[in-house]
Amino acid sequence: MIVVMKKGASQDAIDHLVEMIEGLGLRSHVIVGTERTVIAAIGDERHTHKESLESSPEVDEVVPILAPYKMASTEVKQEPTVVQAGGLTVGGTQIGMIAGPCSVESEEQIVETAKLVKRCGGTALRGGAFKPRTSPYSFQGLKEEGLQMLATAREETGLAVVTEVVATDDVELVAKYADVLQIGARNMQNYRLLEAVGNVDRAVLLKRGAAATVDELLLAGEYILSAGNPNVMLCERGIRTFEGHTRFTLPLATVPYLHQKTHLPVVIDPSHGTGHTYLVPDMASAAIAAGADGLIVEVHPDPETAMSDGYQSLNFAQFEAMMQRCRRVATAIDKTI
Ligand code: PEP
Ligand code: MN
Repeated sequence: MIVVMKKGASQDAIDHLVEMIEGLGLRSHVIVGTERTVIAAIGDERHTHKESLESSPEVDEVVPILAPYKMASTEVKQEPTVVQAGGLTVGGTQIGMIAGPCSVESEEQIVETAKLVKRCGGTALRGGAFKPRTSPYSFQGLKEEGLQMLATAREETGLAVVTEVVATDDVELVAKYADVLQIGARNMQNYRLLEAVGNVDRAVLLKRGAAATVDELLLAGEYILSAGNPNVMLCERGIRTFEGHTRFTLPLATVPYLHQKTHLPVVIDPSHGTGHTYLVPDMASAAIAAGADGLIVEVHPDPETAMSDGYQSLNFAQFEAMMQRCRRVATAIDKTI
């Protein structure tokens, strides 16, 4: 349920409603809007009489939340959520540009890439230190050593660090070094991991599972929000279809659809979404034209020798050209990169 307070409702009245909601065994979540304050009451509502809440004098109305994802829904909050993490801002009119190699391979590789990303106007550095690989024999990442290299790159450039956490046991360690915790496609439905990142003070980039529906992505995001972390970005990275010409199929309609359904920012990954370097810049500009709040792109000093995903990584010149083009598209729709 959403308890909509009257315009100018007093803090005492809001506190009182929170107490009443919690007394009914529901969880309360206060959202202060520009117009008025609403309180989301979340939990099992079957035995709750909305009349008892509605009778408070400073309450305007009590309405049910119809979407299965409650806190993520635009029914609860219409204004877009802007996620800020270190130097990265995603949402509203600000497009966040996250770029870097698939995997952290060496200090030289990550620092060199970070400098390029910074010079081209990117705001965050990506790089996997814990890699979820399809084969157990593939490179699994440099783990804590890789995280230390990311921290060095942040010190040198000021870029925010975005890196994946693959297991609940690693959340504390990764959060020590990262500004944004990435939940990979393979882990989108690892609910214990979602709860664990919901409990730390770090923004989360949640990637859509390759076989997950958009509603399942929203419900996965709801796990993080309901654990207490409001800083969630949803990422479309492509889904598995019968198509073979791309590694995954990247549905850009996800962007306007999610903007209808949720206030959370939407990030597009054209690298995994296509699986081919030559398709990335076009899909990056298309994503911005479709209204994406951010991009996450793989870039590597020498894609041919990359230890993972070289075939979909941009080299430095390609990344620079892509950024210039994306900036022009962003300007055309009154956004900034
Ligand atoms: C990655 O970002 O390198 C990655 C493994 O992505 P995904 O989880 O989308 O496959
Ligand atoms: Mn990758």
